[in-house]
Amino acid sequence: MWEYAPAPESRDIANLKPSYRMFLDGEFVEGGGEPLKTVNPATEEVLAEVSTASKSDVDKAVKAARRAYDRVWGRMPGAERAKYIFRIARMVAERSRELAVLESLDNGKPIKESRDVDVPTASAHFFYHAGWADKLDYAGLGPDPRPLGVAGQVIPWNFPLLMAAWKLAPALACGNTVVLKPAETTPLTALVLADIIQQADLPPGVVNILPGAGDVGAELVGHPDIDKVAFTGSTEVGKLIQCSVAGTGKKLTLELGGKAANVVFDDAPLDQAVEGIVNGIFFNQGHVCCAGSRLLVQESVADELLDKLHTRIATLRVGDPLDKNTDVGAINSREQLTKIAELVSSGEAEGAEKWVSPCPLPDKGFFFAPTVFAGVSQAMRIAREEIFGPVLSVLTFRTPDEAVAKANNTPYGLSAGIWTDKGSRILWMADRLRAGVVWANTFNRFDPTAPFGGYQESGFGREGGRQGLEAYLDV
Ligand code: NAP
Ligand code: MG
Repeated sequence: MWEYAPAPESRDIANLKPSYRMFLDGEFVEGGGEPLKTVNPATEEVLAEVSTASKSDVDKAVKAARRAYDRVWGRMPGAERAKYIFRIARMVAERSRELAVLESLDNGKPIKESRDVDVPTASAHFFYHAGWADKLDYAGLGPDPRPLGVAGQVIPWNFPLLMAAWKLAPALACGNTVVLKPAETTPLTALVLADIIQQADLPPGVVNILPGAGDVGAELVGHPDIDKVAFTGSTEVGKLIQCSVAGTGKKLTLELGGKAANVVFDDAPLDQAVEGIVNGIFFNQGHVCCAGSRLLVQESVADELLDKLHTRIATLRVGDPLDKNTDVGAINSREQLTKIAELVSSGEAEGAEKWVSPCPLPDKGFFFAPTVFAGVSQAMRIAREEIFGPVLSVLTFRTPDEAVAKANNTPYGLSAGIWTDKGSRILWMADRLRAGVVWANTFNRFDPTAPFGGYQESGFGREGGRQGLEAYLDV
């Protein structure tokens, strides 16, 4: 046996400042709200103080976005808009180390994920959408598609920079201006993105970034001069937003929770499936709306697969997010940690068999050991509710029809995975699974060219790809 030596990334690279201000009409200004303190969930230390928006700041930001839309951005030829968006894409790539370290500090995700997934994919979203800006007439959405106007966007804490990119890039490419609210616990990378946007010389008011809590989000989506609302977060808040915009004529897209089935057939290459299952549920500590949180395994291979899974999961290293050897970082907040622990106790109380990785956990910070529940039945809370943590629920099936019925037995419908050797079975299953994204023999792959979005309580509308443009255009 040998141990990994620590391989920490230097936190100096993050260029952390003691305080951050909001970005309004092209300037960094003090918000009128009570400043918030954002913490490092791996150590519980305060990282920085961040100013937040008041009601009147939201109004000022929407007015600035409206002016920028009317006077500049909404009239600018697509080829010109593209130049700005390309510049943002390049600058995100140039500052990728800084952004990755800052993201890991503020969010708790392992540096190898922020470095290899979050930041490069954020940059890729800007590159991809820059390419569309002058080709919207050819997107297959009808002749002469027009921008909608001002978009109000609210994002969660699980992929702070990446969600900002998912929201901003298509909005800007289509000629809209934006007011964006990052999540309360993870505002920092969005404000560095604001710095990039300022340096890219985007006209003032085209992008405004207002940190704050849920009330700032509610104020923004309820503002009468917003034309489009885009929200990613919980189904509960999504429903409130849907009620608040009903009857207003605002266009709405909602990207909410999920409880994805990852379905493994007996002919699947099991070792490869194990890697996909681990990536499906332990990537980003399981704080992923499309996480493969329900493993459906064919009964004949269930014991073998579970043994292999335990062996593999026991090797995952949980700890310092800035260590390049860390596989599973910190849970984003104490609140989320409490929620995970509560759902795990419900699983035990309802009679599922709990297995917990023997990995050591740090003494401070918010951490949760990778957990697997076997013997889960469909009525249990751990099979129905989104845990949003490193917890896998394992169910079994005998026939493909049963797999489909169980996979679709959920109020959600965001993603699903299929593991089998047979191409025909992949297509048969994909046709029947009610999920916006279906991965075959892989999981959690993200690409700006592929549309992403849900069915049922996972929301509606698509983000990414040609289809995602429609959410930001009057077609
Ligand atoms: P959330 O409460 O829905 O928060 C998402 C965003 O909406 C945050 O920026 C939040 O601000 C803001 N917000 C809260 N209340 C609002 C309101 N009434 N009107 C407008 N905006 C509002 O989600 P959460 O608290 O971060 O997480 C709760 C659960 O949501 C998780 O456990 C998970 O199940 C699910 N979730 C799903 C996704 C996803 O990608 N689909 C992402 C994150 C969470 P604050 O930051 O101040 O709360
Ligand atoms: Mg934080």
